[in-house]
Amino acid sequence: MDGASPTAHTLLSDIFGFDAFRPMQQEIVDAVSAGEDVLAILPTGGGKSLCYQLPALLRPGLTVVISPLIALMRDQVRALREVGVEAGALTSANTEEETDAVYSGLSEGRLKILYMAPERLASGGTERLLAQSGVTLLAVDEAHCVSQWGHDFRPDYLRIGALRRALDVPLAAFTATADSETRDEIVTRLFGGQAPKTFLGGFDRPNIRLAFAAKLKPREQILSFASARKEQSGIVYCGTRAKTETLAKALSDTGLSACAYHAGMEPDARRDVERRFQSEDGLIVVATVAFGMGIDKPDIRWVAHADLPKSIEAYYQEIGRAGRDGAPAETLTLYGADDIRFRRMQIDESLAPAERRMADHGRLNALLGLAEALKCRRQTLLEYFEEAREPCGNCDLCAQPPDTFDATEAVMKALSAMLRTGESFGVGHLTDILVGTCTEKVKARGHDRLPTFGVGQDTDRRHWSAIFRQMMGHDLVRPDAERHGALRMTHAALPILKGDASITFRRDTLASAPRRNAPRALVSEEDAPLLSALKAKRRELAEAQRAPAYVIFPDRTLIEMAETRPDTLDEMAKINGVGAKKLERYGSTFLAVITGDTPVQEHPARRKLAGRASGDVYDRLLAAQARLARGEDGTGKPMSCSAALLAKIAALGPNATDQIDRLLGDRLADRFGPTFAQILSEA
Ligand code: ADP
Ligand code: ZN
Repeated sequence: MDGASPTAHTLLSDIFGFDAFRPMQQEIVDAVSAGEDVLAILPTGGGKSLCYQLPALLRPGLTVVISPLIALMRDQVRALREVGVEAGALTSANTEEETDAVYSGLSEGRLKILYMAPERLASGGTERLLAQSGVTLLAVDEAHCVSQWGHDFRPDYLRIGALRRALDVPLAAFTATADSETRDEIVTRLFGGQAPKTFLGGFDRPNIRLAFAAKLKPREQILSFASARKEQSGIVYCGTRAKTETLAKALSDTGLSACAYHAGMEPDARRDVERRFQSEDGLIVVATVAFGMGIDKPDIRWVAHADLPKSIEAYYQEIGRAGRDGAPAETLTLYGADDIRFRRMQIDESLAPAERRMADHGRLNALLGLAEALKCRRQTLLEYFEEAREPCGNCDLCAQPPDTFDATEAVMKALSAMLRTGESFGVGHLTDILVGTCTEKVKARGHDRLPTFGVGQDTDRRHWSAIFRQMMGHDLVRPDAERHGALRMTHAALPILKGDASITFRRDTLASAPRRNAPRALVSEEDAPLLSALKAKRRELAEAQRAPAYVIFPDRTLIEMAETRPDTLDEMAKINGVGAKKLERYGSTFLAVITGDTPVQEHPARRKLAGRASGDVYDRLLAAQARLARGEDGTGKPMSCSAALLAKIAALGPNATDQIDRLLGDRLADRFGPTFAQILSEA
């Protein structure tokens, strides 16, 4: 649509403070603004809200947004008001004053965007109210909630079709769920079967780092992953309710802020966790999959799976809760042979019809294929969604390609041990046979006389367990639900058994020491102190307003501030996420933090030195660093040292020039080395 896009662009930067559309946003905004019926499928974090908020501002009259997420609606309303848009919400969480304010906004025709919970549609008064309020657009968030077969089904969503007909306005529906059955159901139930203009966005979430690890010491693996990410909000998904509680306790015991969440908890306790997670900076929630739809926090920095999810779709959805704001986020998924057994049995023992169970095995296989992948995880994941990709550079396998070996012979030996024992035994007994351990059970069944007995002696037990796990992962063998997990061969294994095919396994997952899982820093070391100062300021403002931190500014905006260090309000206005209203409200406050006109809160590294002589040295180093931040002549690239580094240098004592330079590294030594040496020699 001509004419709309320049205006859309102006609003994008003036109101929302963004300088470019995300993929597909512009096309969707244009179509919705033009009054077309639209169905848009964008991944989580793709920026769906903007796709109805911008058109709402471009079109005359009122836009009604139906959303099932009350916490999200309230945050969005708050965020819209922050940028100067007249918005309100009608939900069960409203106070009387809030509801009154919405009604007067409606009757005065001031309100541009009205959020509404689906339950409202059940009352006859709602349709009348809306009919009198000049509604010109209906937007439906989480449109998959209309699907009766999905687990997010909301019966009240079925009333939306009738409301659309009654108001006779265009409808724009949004979801991140992309399977075609759900899409068809949305078209039938929301659009009365008339196909809307459909936009299907890509599935990639490039800011999310993907990583898997075989379980070795799972609790330690999770603890070390979480500890390395202290003060970042994260979710740990567990397979059982009991485990959420023990793991949450273990995390708390190591000094992290963590709590459990599962469907067996009292509703009040659950709501309390949801509320804390939404507003606190850096809480870890250890949860079952029950922790899902209700959360819509854009700045979740990591998601870990203490147990393997049930399918590749579930995996994608769960990790997708991280990094919705587009800033870097990390994931780690643990898996082991027990998980595979558990998930298989769960499917086999479900009451679903046979075809459904087959499909479920297929979805589990796709996830196991991803877990045991030999090339880029993202490529493998997106291939499943039929999107082609180059290796991503942001997954564990891109970072360190796996060490592989030809496992054909080992697999043949294992299969042979299984077949010669009537496919009646599990991994433990089969391994005894392969490595030639003469247990009671082996002797009693005469398995020590099998030709396979001891053929796997060249490989130790741990390696065999990894081989069995990968055989399960490649679906060459499956635990038999009817026979207590005895392994059965599948058709997929036949070509290998017959010598017609070979197979490659990974070796590195067999290693005993888990690889260090260092967190990815959000900014370079030199910008880190400023970023924490900006975050502290944000927290202070958010607490004063009793709002979640990201309502003030999202992480990405603070990161950009720390990296580009605007030193005037004009420069500040160029930062992504700083629109006119926010510039006016917060611009100078944050500018003061950047230019150092407000004292930055003392870093813990400095606090440790309090009262000691080196504390004084530290302060002088800090002052010198601030003076030299842009070089002697003030025109260089901004540089600074971390507080920890300054503390180390402060402790060095005189005559330490060499050590200073070594600690600083070349770049920093060029800028700061001589001055720092001078300060130390005077101390
Ligand atoms: P979704 O509903 O698709 O999961 P949101 O609408 O909540 O995603 O948007 C996710 C985040 O991305 C929000 O913090 C939003 O402000 C931000 N965002 C949306 N569009 C843009 C854009 N064009 N540029 C920068 N950030 C954006
Ligand atoms: Zn990759």
